[in-house]
Amino acid sequence: MQSIPIKNVGEPEVSGLIDRFARQYVYLRLSITDVCNFRCNYCLPDGYHPPKHKQTFLNVDEIQRLVRTFADLGTEKVRITGGEPTLRKDFLDIAHTISQTAGIRQVALTTNGYRMERDVALWQQAGITNLNVSVDSLDPRQFHLITGENKLQTILNGIDKAFEIGYNKVKVNAVLMKQYTAKGLDDFLRWIKDRPIQMRFIELMETGEMDSFFQQQHLSGQTILERLTREGWQLKPKGLTDGPAKVLTHPDYQGEIGLIMPYEKNFCASCNRLRVSALGKLHLCLFGEEGVNIRDLLQSDEQQLQLETRLKAALQGKREHHYLHIGDSGVRNNLASIGG
Ligand code: SAM
Ligand code: SF4
Repeated sequence: MQSIPIKNVGEPEVSGLIDRFARQYVYLRLSITDVCNFRCNYCLPDGYHPPKHKQTFLNVDEIQRLVRTFADLGTEKVRITGGEPTLRKDFLDIAHTISQTAGIRQVALTTNGYRMERDVALWQQAGITNLNVSVDSLDPRQFHLITGENKLQTILNGIDKAFEIGYNKVKVNAVLMKQYTAKGLDDFLRWIKDRPIQMRFIELMETGEMDSFFQQQHLSGQTILERLTREGWQLKPKGLTDGPAKVLTHPDYQGEIGLIMPYEKNFCASCNRLRVSALGKLHLCLFGEEGVNIRDLLQSDEQQLQLETRLKAALQGKREHHYLHIGDSGVRNNLASIGG
């Protein structure tokens, strides 16, 4: 197995969230529900099924304590994800609570966009600063085939509405799949020509619930990168706090392209994010570990120091990189349970 070269600097610093490989964590991805109303073929092809034992997702008070603790440890950005986060009745309350936390500068939302046309102004008022919307195809029939829903037009209207009310950029996620996205690339390019959209193509990641789907559909982002480079797109230099996406720009386009290629060597070197599931488990990586329970330390404000200690200790166990490239997708059955 290839080893990914990241400098080991020995002892961690005590003040913030820094791991053994000198990666600093300023970005929290918080899932607030496992529930989803879509049935994306790569995620929940049979839809969401509630577990036999009733589970309750983190409540607003628990979320407030969690985010306050992360912010005190240097976190500046929180992404709210799911499942479909906007399905929660108290979604606006959650967004508002997070955005009011001292130290949090950005509150991002990842959504399938089904409520965006109706609610985006409310999201803005609640303090959502960044929007990521999943749109896997611009062809309504393909969109339906992929997601099980006929909602493409309302989602596209929602994105235009976001621009109207003052968002100056929207990120759009599409999972790369041989059968669908390869052919749809021209549509996406036309769409972002005059819109400030960062169109992000994410390589399909293998999860525990997939069998032949991954082999049939996986398409490397490299193919797209080569085509775009031939057509004059140029890689943008990375900022210090940028995540693992490669971003390309073109003088004729208002939009940008992002490529997320988790199977690439060195993908994990720029990892700057930690994840917390809707049930209150800390996940150090999207793949390959069980998660550390932290919910018991979210029950009162007095527990903050204990929580900080547990978070820092857990972080020392974060591996240098995932093992996806050798077919180890870890324990994750699908990404709806952790928010992608
Ligand atoms: N429901 C929201 C949505 O779809 O945007 C948020 C949760 S979803 C799990 C977050 C992101 O993960 C989506 O952009 C989705 O396309 C991506 N995703 C889900 N399963 C994936 C997989 N197996 N490989 C790559 N991306 C995946
Ligand atoms: Fe739902 Fe998002 Fe998964 Fe699609 S990708 S099934 S919208 S959680």
